[in-house]
Amino acid sequence: MTLPFTLLIDPEPADSPRTDFVDTFHEIDSGAPALRVAELSTQRGDGIFETLSVVDGRPHEVEPHINRLVNSAQICDLPVPNPAQWRAAIAYAVERIPGEGELALKFVLSRGVEHGPAPTAWLHATRAADFRAVRENGITVITLDRGYPRGVAEQAPWLLMGAKTLSYAVNMAALREAKRRGADDTIFLTHDGYVMEGPTSSVVLRIDGRYLTPAPSGAILHGTTQQSMFEFLEANGAATEYRDITVDELRAADAAWLVSSVRLAVAVTELDGEAFPHDTELTRALNEALLDRTKA
Ligand code: PLP
Repeated sequence: MTLPFTLLIDPEPADSPRTDFVDTFHEIDSGAPALRVAELSTQRGDGIFETLSVVDGRPHEVEPHINRLVNSAQICDLPVPNPAQWRAAIAYAVERIPGEGELALKFVLSRGVEHGPAPTAWLHATRAADFRAVRENGITVITLDRGYPRGVAEQAPWLLMGAKTLSYAVNMAALREAKRRGADDTIFLTHDGYVMEGPTSSVVLRIDGRYLTPAPSGAILHGTTQQSMFEFLEANGAATEYRDITVDELRAADAAWLVSSVRLAVAVTELDGEAFPHDTELTRALNEALLDRTKA
């Protein structure tokens, strides 16, 4: 029941007939050396990952995260993950980590060791940072040019835009740029002025009572939290829509949120230095619903 919790996993092929995977899981001391120097995940960021939240012992949105891992693997030409093995690994970890509070569970599939025989996989659980203040008070955001036009995923699939790869150096640099400019976070725009996503979150807006998010066209990730948010809104009678959104529409929206698995929904309270309208009541209700999800 201690954290961090780390599990090395021998990845099984997607078509493996096995139903029991326990002997493919190796729990290790989180401080112990675990990866080889020639690992392509560390050398080149050549791998994919997911982070899901575990709240009071319940892992959230396991299937959407595994589905996205499979999709990322296909985009990156990695061996397709075995969903049953990942499901079992998550369940194995959840039985061995604290059953209270908010935890972040990250799982990784790497191309493995250079010239080595197999991909490398592991899972790592830590206590989540305390996001109560930002959920309640919101965040200040700047827009940043991602440097690509709309349609980049189709024009240049080798950029792996729709995959959740380990190469987050650009995303982290964008967050540092936001901090340098006195903001908490950023919304990426295409070079031609369309809203994309945050470096670690999806963007949802409200315009004339409708909730909008950019279509997951392959240039951005399809956020699991955004999908849960839409389910919550639709269950409450609100209209939701996926479509292209211009930066002018973003500026004119009557609310905007950055949403992600562990931080959950945070309202944008300032955009590019201008005060931005926000809906504190709805943000509270949304986060309560997201924390309370029982659906795996
Ligand atoms: N977009 C990017 C680039 C992300 O890194 C993330 C999450 O880390 C998201 C969107 C939101 O995805 P999710 O809600 O599944 O956490």
